[in-house]
Amino acid sequence: MTIIDGRRIADEIKKDVKSKLDELKTIYGVTPTIASIIIGDNKESELYLKLRDKASSEVGIKSKHYRFSKGVSKEEIIKVINELNNNQDIHGILLQQPIPEHLSLYNLLSNINPLKDVEGLTPYNLGRLMMGYEKIIPCTPLAVLKILEYMDVKLEGSNIVIINHSIIVGKPLSILLLNRNATVTVCHVYTKNLKQYTLDADILITATGVPGLIKEDYIKKDACVIDVGITKTSEGIRGDVDFNGVKEKASMLTPVPGGVGPVTIACSLMNMLETFQNCMELKK
Ligand code: NAD
Repeated sequence: MTIIDGRRIADEIKKDVKSKLDELKTIYGVTPTIASIIIGDNKESELYLKLRDKASSEVGIKSKHYRFSKGVSKEEIIKVINELNNNQDIHGILLQQPIPEHLSLYNLLSNINPLKDVEGLTPYNLGRLMMGYEKIIPCTPLAVLKILEYMDVKLEGSNIVIINHSIIVGKPLSILLLNRNATVTVCHVYTKNLKQYTLDADILITATGVPGLIKEDYIKKDACVIDVGITKTSEGIRGDVDFNGVKEKASMLTPVPGGVGPVTIACSLMNMLETFQNCMELKK
C-alpha cells in the first residue's frame, strides 16, 4: 500500500511554476499580482488564504486582498471586479468562497474576465472544460488529476466514483475525468446505498466533509482512494476516510493532512501562472 505524499507532488509543481514565472518575469519585467476578494469572516477561508499567500510569495507572486463586510451589495462587488478586470497591474482574480447567501455565486463569477479567472470557475472556463477545450481548470479537480497522473494511475476505462456534486469539486472533476475516457459515477448525500457504488470503484474520490464516512468495507481491494475531505475535529484535521482501516485494503491512499490539500494550493499557483501568461500575451 502506498501512502501518497501530497507535499512532495506540490513541491514539484511549485518548482516548475517558479522556473516558468522567473522566465516570464525576466522577459516582461513585471511582478505577477493576484487579487483575492474576501467577503465576511470565515475561519477556514482565512486559513486557506494564509496558506495560498505563503505559497504564492515563495514562487514570487504578490497577493492583494480586497475585503468586504458580509452585508456588502452585489453592485459593490461587481464594481470592484470590473475595476480589477481593467487594472493592468492585476493578473488574476480569486473570489474566496463561501460567499454570503444573499449574493449569487453565478452572478459574481460571470463578471470576472475569464483570462484572469484563477479558479477556473467562470461560466466560460467551465464551458471550455465541458467542451473538452480545457484551459483554466478549477484547482481541486486539477489537484486530483495531478495526483493520479503523478502516481501513474490509469484513467481510461477505469471505474471512478466521486462522492461530491459541488461546483468546486465533483461537477468539474467528473467532466475532467470523462474527458480522459474514464467511466464516472457521481454520488452525493441523496444517493441511495452509497456502498453499492463505491464497491465498484477502481478509483474512489471522496469530498463530503463527513469524517470517517468511508470505511474498509466501502472499498474494493486494491482501489486507489483519494480523500479530498477536510474537517476540523477535536482530534485534529480529519478526512472522509477511516485511514487505518482503508489502508489495509487500498493500493494507494492520500492522507489528511498532507494529501490533496497541498496539491490544491500548488494547482492554484499553476492557474496564477496561466492567468499571468494570458495578461502578458495581451500586452504584446
Ligand atoms: P459541499 O458542502 O459543497 O459539498 C459536499 C458534498 O458532499 C455534496 O455533494 C454532498 O451531497 C456530499 N455529501 C455530504 N454528506 C454526504 C454523505 N453522508 N454521503 C454522501 N455524500 C455526502 O462542500 P465542498 O466545498 O465541495 O467541499 C467538500 C469537502 O472537501 C469539505 O470537507 C471541504 O473542506 C473539502 N475540500 C478540500 C479541498 C482540498 O484542497 N483538499 C478543496 C475543497 C474542498
